[in-house]
Amino acid sequence: MSKKLLLKDAHIEGIRYFETYRKQGGYTAAEKALKMTPEEILEEVKVSGLRGRGGAGFPTGMKWSFLAKPEGVPRHLVVNADESEPGTFKDRYLMEFLPHLLIEGMLISSYTLGSNVSYIYIRGEYSWIPDILEEAIEEAKAAGFLGKNILGTGFDCEIYVQRGGGAYICGEETALLESLEGKRGNPRLKPPFPAVKGLWERPTVVNNVESIAAIVPIIDITGAEYAKIGVGRSTGTKLISACGNINKPGVYEIDMTITVEEFIYSDEYCGGIPNGKKLKACIPGGSSVPIVPANLLLKTVNGEPRYMNYESLADGGFATGTMMGSGGFIVLDEDQCVVEHTMTLARFYHHESCGQCTPCREGTGWMHKILKKIEKGEGKMEDIDLLWDIQRKIEGNTICPLGDAAAWPVAAAIRHFRDEFEWHVKNPELSQTQNYGLANY
Ligand code: NAD
Ligand code: SF4
Repeated sequence: MSKKLLLKDAHIEGIRYFETYRKQGGYTAAEKALKMTPEEILEEVKVSGLRGRGGAGFPTGMKWSFLAKPEGVPRHLVVNADESEPGTFKDRYLMEFLPHLLIEGMLISSYTLGSNVSYIYIRGEYSWIPDILEEAIEEAKAAGFLGKNILGTGFDCEIYVQRGGGAYICGEETALLESLEGKRGNPRLKPPFPAVKGLWERPTVVNNVESIAAIVPIIDITGAEYAKIGVGRSTGTKLISACGNINKPGVYEIDMTITVEEFIYSDEYCGGIPNGKKLKACIPGGSSVPIVPANLLLKTVNGEPRYMNYESLADGGFATGTMMGSGGFIVLDEDQCVVEHTMTLARFYHHESCGQCTPCREGTGWMHKILKKIEKGEGKMEDIDLLWDIQRKIEGNTICPLGDAAAWPVAAAIRHFRDEFEWHVKNPELSQTQNYGLANY
């Protein structure tokens, strides 16, 4: 059984409210942290090995240490709660059921970074959650854990919740900052990184909800103890939102030592695939990471089991960058059609492109058009090569990672499931009435 750090109290009735959270030991990590120096806390976070839980897996302690500290310029902590990656809903769960864990993590982080005004930027579609967060903020303030002179330390901290307008691109940290400043959410060129020039050109740390929540157990048990959980550079626990063709969709906390097979088939997690169907493929880290066929998913190229962690999921030559991504684990059974699935994703990325870069603005549209054509049985063999060519021209040629995120799923689908694309071309009539999966298994 995986160790639980974040969700250990999630089942307790009323844990959303300050009184119950406090009874369970809530805010003791904050009390401990406020007696430490910011440098000591930063050291604990570095030692913990915590990697950003939004998707990129960038070491949190390192990001914090990059924060510029020019004399007399305010600094900010901004929590990225614009969780919009298809298949990802772990931050929603945390905010809905454990809002005080986030607020406590923000208090410790704001104190460490020297942010007197911190923000939560939350996705517009999570319309019921800002009220939960604002209530928790008020409760924490009434108990002296936010506001002026917190616990007599002289440290002041206010937290504000800002609702997004429903654009996926605002989850990209610089687009988020633009939006928070009241402008259209267009990504900025990096560098400069937000740690140097962020919100209103002030040094800013942008961290994911889960990353900030993880600061609480790190302070609680110490960074060294946190680092003992997990394996290699995949320390601590990770929330995974599991969905698709599984018996038990939901949010699970894992310690990154379990295998992918165990995660999919064990009753503790996904509980297997409905109706005893075979596993076809999986997208292990949200829609931006490449699709992986079952044979590579359950075993590595060396025949070793594949584990649910950053290193193991990225190994095998089929990935560009991290495969753990945002922890949005999407399972496809044998009946699913990869072409249709890829077309749906292409439509999404085309719709969400902000339009600043030509390769992304035009390329996502072309990929969607061609995939639609192939899926409907109206494609030619050359279209598959054209699709491959377009995705290659997008990758690495855009301002923000949305371009790559649109290109990678298409590349991986063609690389691993070219036979399905060819089946659609060769069977135009069948592909209008059947999907590849149902017709071939
Ligand atoms: P990134 O690798 O560019 O950056 C990661 C973080 O490290 C950023 O905060 C960046 O500012 C910081 N950083 C990197 N180098 C730095 C340096 N030299 N100095 C200072 N700071 C530095 O990745 P990203 O654009 O932040 O995120 C991409 C990931 O987001 C994708 O892999 C995808 O999985 C994920 N994603 C998640 C969601 C979601 O809903 N959770 C949605 C879309 C995408
Ligand atoms: Fe906008 Fe796409 Fe360019 Fe990102 S890659 S800045 S979403 S056009």
